[in-house]
Amino acid sequence: MLHSKLPQVGTTIFTRMSALATETGALNLSQGFPDFNPPQRLAQALGEHALAGNNQYAPMAGLPRLREAVAAQLLRHRRVDVDPETEVTIVPGATEGIFCAIQAVVRPGDEVVVLDPVYDSYEPAIELAGGRAIHVPLDTDFAIDWQRISEAVTPRTRVLMLNSPHNPSGSVITRNDLDELASLVERHDLLVCSDEVYEYLVFDGAEHCSVLSHPVLRERSFAHYSFGKTFSVTGWKTGYCVASPRLTEEFRKVHQYVTYVAVTPVQHALADFMHEDPDYPLSLAASYQRRRDYFLGALGESRFTWKPASGSYFQLLDYSAITDDVDLQLCERWTREHGVASIPVSYFYAEPPEQKLLRFCFAKSDEVLLQAAERLCAIPS
Ligand code: PMP
Ligand code: GLN
Repeated sequence: MLHSKLPQVGTTIFTRMSALATETGALNLSQGFPDFNPPQRLAQALGEHALAGNNQYAPMAGLPRLREAVAAQLLRHRRVDVDPETEVTIVPGATEGIFCAIQAVVRPGDEVVVLDPVYDSYEPAIELAGGRAIHVPLDTDFAIDWQRISEAVTPRTRVLMLNSPHNPSGSVITRNDLDELASLVERHDLLVCSDEVYEYLVFDGAEHCSVLSHPVLRERSFAHYSFGKTFSVTGWKTGYCVASPRLTEEFRKVHQYVTYVAVTPVQHALADFMHEDPDYPLSLAASYQRRRDYFLGALGESRFTWKPASGSYFQLLDYSAITDDVDLQLCERWTREHGVASIPVSYFYAEPPEQKLLRFCFAKSDEVLLQAAERLCAIPS
């Protein structure tokens, strides 16, 4: 009677680990979200707009004043010129934007290249469109192996999914990666779905390399962003998709029937804040880099090993000097026994390699980071 369209999909690890952290009272460094408040002025603006009566549907593509603020921000911070009318769509979260982009362009039988470890929402979206995800592993440093990707491309390949800064590894792509990608997509006539939700979280002086900053990729890409990450409001579930007018037209055909529109007072509040404080996002890199370094500094005496994350708000820790346990069971056990919840990195792979890595979210207060590090340091072999 009922034949599941997604038989291998369960409840996400993020939901499960956050629930376990709540149930056990553990420090929750699993699911990615800040444990601190957004800027006060932004939160206030949301209340003001709800009280002022801005509570009915916004235009389908998003409030014009928010789309203008997005375009102004792209020009100011990335020197990318986009038309807010025809190239920017406000969506209820990047997850929805990515889903709609995939539904708009992937047909039954199409192949979509994804890079493992891969964010969990991509493959179900590809499958619901009738496509097939082709998993290509990143190399051991989580950099992109262009030779392997090029070998995975077939006449059926339609889209390549890109994610930088990368969840879960924290790696970031370079200008050279953009050039490699551009030559690949031109050679094979591909589209790109670029997940750039952590665009402002790039550390140690590196720059975020957006597909929008590359002339070839600009024409062939959907670029996805999340206000949730940039303004510490993941629960507001609002983001945007930037793409050429031709791609945006197809994107909106799907978006208008998936959710139709994003939440109105949230859009007003974001527009106010972005107009008032356009450079706020530029403060994020230093503040998150400091949190990363504080967490790693407090882990100094432990037997974990790591390479500091280059971007995102996730830090991978290698626990192979502590135990041989499988990561999935280990993160549950450590949540219960040591009171720190994390995410097993094998979850992000079609075929997990031999590695012992857990992902920790460092978008947390100093007290929580310090306490978590102390508990992790105290774990016996
Ligand atoms: N992509 C990546 C890589 C993410 O980590 C997240 C996390 N939340 C999303 C997309 C989804 O963002 P949103 O909450 O705006 O849907
Ligand atoms: N993107 C977040 C993470 O990687 C989780 C968002 C979600 O739970 N879907 O932790």
